[in-house]
Amino acid sequence: MFDLVVPGVYIFVSRSFDSNIGFLDSGSSRVLIDAGTGVYSNQLESALEQVGSSLGSITDVLLTHSHVDHIGGVVPLLKEASPKIHLHKVEADMINSGDMSLTLGQTFGADIPPMNIEGVLEEGDVLEFGNLKVKVMHTPGHSGGSACYHLEEEGVVYTGDTMFSGGSFGRVDFPTGDPRKIVESLGRLANLDHFNTALPGHMGPVIGTAKQSANSSYQMAKDWFNVG
Ligand SMILES: [Zn+2]
Ligand SMILES: [Zn+2]
Repeated sequence: MFDLVVPGVYIFVSRSFDSNIGFLDSGSSRVLIDAGTGVYSNQLESALEQVGSSLGSITDVLLTHSHVDHIGGVVPLLKEASPKIHLHKVEADMINSGDMSLTLGQTFGADIPPMNIEGVLEEGDVLEFGNLKVKVMHTPGHSGGSACYHLEEEGVVYTGDTMFSGGSFGRVDFPTGDPRKIVESLGRLANLDHFNTALPGHMGPVIGTAKQSANSSYQMAKDWFNVG
């Protein structure tokens, strides 16, 4: 089920291989942030119903990156609705040219069919969904086009697989992963203003102490990869 973080801003913490799924509900926008593998789309549908929404009413999907555990859920969603899909340019360009290799679908036995990414994002873009403004941070390291989504006014960041709770962070051993870059990206989060709550792609949220937690992840990654 979705937990309310601040008005209009939700997180569904997964208990499976699925990514966590964020939800923004403001004005006429109904936005998913990541979509899980798609295996549990019935659960997603009932979770959305509990907050007065449905798969059919989704207007947008913001992907933090294109790994199968985040993008897979777009496939069943496209049978119910025609949302605009947003993803950082590095990975959107690959998918729009028909290259689905970075989804790792084949590795994990869940082939993702080609799809059209209409929202090709870059660092600093600001997306408006009703009253909510979402700033795009390009945070490579876990993958080349990994992004974090910053709701500055609310002090909330959807951190994808870049930063996790408890001083942990995403792995860098998949294609386009880069230890040096994830350290840099974690350093940006550790120094980010208007950052109280982190809503990561896996594991629980960090409420109230996100910046300190990002700093722990940053220090841990620096030591682990022996950089900086
Ligand atoms: Zn993931
Ligand atoms: Zn990932």
